[in-house]
This record gives sequence, C-alpha cells and structure tokens, in this order.
Amino acid sequence: MRERLVVIGGDAAGMSAASQARRRKGPDELEVVAFERGRRTSYSACGIPYWIAGDATGPDKLIARTPEKHRARDIDVRLGTEVVEIDRDRGRVRTRDVLGAEEWTGYDQLVIATGAVPKRPPIPGIDADGVYGVQILDDGEDIIEALDRRPLRDAVVVGGGYIGVEMAEALLRHGLRVTLVERSEQPMATLDPDMGRLVREAMECLGITVVTGAPVREVLTGADGRVRAVATDGGEYPADVVVLGLGVAPNTGLARDAGLPIGAHGGLLTDRAMRVRGEEAIWAGGDCVEVLNLVSGGMQHIPLGTHANKQGRVIGTNIGGGYATFPGVVGTAVSKVCDLEIARTGLKESQARAAGLQYVTAVIESTSRAGYYPGAAPMTVKAIAERQTGRLLGLQIVGREGAGKRVDIGAVALTAGMTVEQMTALDLGYAPPFSPVWDPVLVAARKVDGKVRADGPGV
Ligand SMILES: Cc1cc2nc3c(=O)[nH]c(=O)nc-3n(C[C@H](O)[C@H](O)[C@H](O)COP(=O)(O)OP(=O)(O)OC[C@H]3O[C@@H](n4cnc5c(N)ncnc54)[C@H](O)[C@@H]3O)c2cc1C
Repeated sequence: MRERLVVIGGDAAGMSAASQARRRKGPDELEVVAFERGRRTSYSACGIPYWIAGDATGPDKLIARTPEKHRARDIDVRLGTEVVEIDRDRGRVRTRDVLGAEEWTGYDQLVIATGAVPKRPPIPGIDADGVYGVQILDDGEDIIEALDRRPLRDAVVVGGGYIGVEMAEALLRHGLRVTLVERSEQPMATLDPDMGRLVREAMECLGITVVTGAPVREVLTGADGRVRAVATDGGEYPADVVVLGLGVAPNTGLARDAGLPIGAHGGLLTDRAMRVRGEEAIWAGGDCVEVLNLVSGGMQHIPLGTHANKQGRVIGTNIGGGYATFPGVVGTAVSKVCDLEIARTGLKESQARAAGLQYVTAVIESTSRAGYYPGAAPMTVKAIAERQTGRLLGLQIVGREGAGKRVDIGAVALTAGMTVEQMTALDLGYAPPFSPVWDPVLVAARKVDGKVRADGPGV
C-alpha cells in the first residue's frame, strides 16, 4: 500500500530526507509532501555573508534545488504553508497557508525539520528600522537593499560568533566602519580565549573595532525611528545599520506542543537512526535536534548545515527501507574573516573541564607552507589532550590560507579516538607548496604528547 511521508521544513534536513526517501522509493510506493512556510526550498543560508560581501551571487545561485526541481521528482512541495499542529494520535498535521486557509493532512511517516530560531533578546530598540537578522535569503536581500539604498557609514554587528565575524567582513567590504560588540571575553567563543584573542587582533588589524565583555543594553533610534547607535554599559557605538548574530535556538514549539521529547538544550531527542525517541513513525533532523558529542559523551545543540544534510539523508534512507545511522559529532567548524581562517574541533578547555576531563594543552606557531616557499603564511595551532591517556580532545587553528581545513585531521583523529602520539605518526602528504615537512597539526600533536609523557602514565 502507498504510504505518505510528510516533511515539515523545506531546507537542508527536510529536503535531504525527502529526496533520499524518493531515491529509494518511487511514487507508487511513497507519496512525499513537504510543507515549507517560506517561499524557497533547499537554500544555502551559509552563503548569505559571502553574497553580501560580493564573493557569491544570490539569491538564485544559493538555491541548491528549487521547488520545481523537487516537484519534477514527485515531491509535492507546498510553499507558504506552515504546519501549526501535529496530531500524533490521529497521525496528521494541521497546516495554514498564506491566505489563512487551514487543512489537515494525514501521514504514515513524519519528518520534523523545522530548523532553528534566531535569538533576539528583549532589549529596547531591537526591532527598530535598520536592525537585521541573518537567517534566510530574504534577510540577505533586505541587507543588500539597505546597503544599496543610501550611503551608510557605520555598522554594528552584535554577536561575535562565526556569523557575526563573517558579517563584519561583509560590511567592511561595503566600505562601512564596522564595530563588533560581543558579550564574551573574546570573539569566536567556540574557541578558547587565548585563540579568540588572535581573531580579535586580526580583526582589529583589518580596521574592525572589537568591543568585548559588553552585552548590548539598548539599540538607540533617531527621531525617524531608525537605528542610530548601539549602547552597552561601556559606551555607545554609532550605527546606520545593525546586524544581529546572537545565535539560534532549536525551533521545537510544534514538537513540544505535540508532547515529543525535548532535551536540556531545547532540541528534539532522537535515536541514532534519527527517529524521535519513543516514536515509531516520527523522525527529526537538523537544527531542531540535539546531537551526541562523541568526545564529551554529552548532548549538545550544534546548528550546522553539515549535520542537517547528513541527518536528513539518514532519515530518508531509513524511511526508504534502508538502514543508516548518525553516530554523533565531534564539534568541527570552520570559518573566516577576510584572509584569516578560524577552525575548531573537539572540546575547548572549558568544555573538557565541564565533561570532567583532565587535560594538557600545547600551542605552536608554524606556517602553511615550507618557510622558503612563496606564500608561506603563519598559523597558530592549539591541541588539547587527555592527561595520562594522551587521547586527543580538541584542536583549534587560527591562520591564513591553508590553515582552516587542516582541522579535519583533528576531526578524523577524534572520530578514531586516536592519541596524540598516534597522530604524530600520521602519514600526511608533504611537499613545500603545501606544508612544512612537519605539518603544523603534527607539530602541535608532538608538543602536547610531550606534556602527556611528562605527566607520567595513568594508574
Ligand atoms: C548566515 C548563516 C551562515 C551559516 N554558515 C554555515 C556554515 O558555514 N557551515 C555550516 O555547516 N552551517 C552554516 N549555517 C547553518 C546552516 O544554515 C543550518 O545549520 C542549516 O540550514 C540547518 O538546516 P535545517 O534544515 O535544519 O533548518 P533550516 O535551514 O532552518 O530550515 C528549516 C525550514 O523549516 C521551515 N519551517 C520551520 N517551521 C515550519 C513550520 N511549522 N511549517 C513549515 N515550515 C517550517 C523554515 O521556513 C525553514 O525553511 C549558517 C547559517 C546561517 C544563518
């Protein structure tokens, strides 16, 4: 008998699940209906900062697969249609379209891929004209339109996470004077503060004013209601435009109302097959779920497209009659501001402490290529290893071209549960245009291994 799969959310996780299920089961076996409240499917939010900066064109180029392409593969995409209720008892969802018309649709299998909602603290003025969030392609269009409409001089980016630093670059590239305001000790709080300081110094060299330890108290407006400045306890920063990059929270209101299990970080809880815990026919993936951190053993909310795509594929494979699992993550992320590459994987020091792990650390300076080869650029690598066992716990890299993606060596080592001693023997490629004879990651592993050895064997 033909089953119906209903997908809530038409982006990375949802459409990966729909597409993969469709690949495995034809229309005679499986009907696929995807509800998306917006007007696009399978779009790349990741590309928005690069589009605004002028490195990519948008919005069309940022769409991996349009609704028409999905429909051509027998996926019934319904745009402008929001799912407003999940009725688990009767296996159906209630939808509302842009005109307000409501309808119930039954499902045999349900995928929840509702993503995340940007954090917007209730500070005065945050909804003023000239304040922008960055989440969907419409936000990119709005910001570009604002930048094109009239000459702007000052921009404030609130939040120094990766979206904040990428947006700081984008605004700088438009010739604006950019201030980044961050409440933590350093920008890029996913790094340890000593590595975050390097990011800060590099941003300041680029001409970005970086204000840290400064929660925003108010967005100040002029008589016309438009933003004019951002205020912290320490001062006021002029702003013709404000961009918010304050992080996101899992979008799980629907799931919560339906009585589905929500974890301590606000995300849906699933098993390894991405089936919602305790449910037979409800699956969830992407920014709305929590994931297992394979290094700490704890659950986390890590909203990244790379996980959303993989999890969606796992869901689609399982619904399509196959078998796949998503084992968890090691916390890998890479970003950049102008030519500075920023990368991390595993645990930072505070996370290792919170997990009850004892550790040693080492920081090294090296270069991206052999020192004598043109273009060799400096990079700093920090390695964290478990005391006594020597297991790699984390790796952070800040440097120029060729630095960031080296973090993948750490991601593989973490996944394999390697010690830093084992890492030092890794057979990595070497030629002068690509690395020094000892790759910087291996130098960091060697140095931290020395500290593990000095610490003595475990008892
Ligand atoms: C500016 C920016 C840069 C980023 N850069 C990177 C990067 O470099 N690397 C990386 O890995 N990740 C990056 N990300 C994160 C990445 O975009 C997300 O992790 C990914 O899009 C999550 O996919 P998702 O399908 O879970 O959720 P989303 O992409 O948020 O999609 C959820 C969809 O569900 C729809 N929806 C929600 N509720 C309902 C409902 N009730 N009914 C119908 N539709 C609904 C929404 O409209 C949305 O289209 C970036 C994100 C942003 C905003």
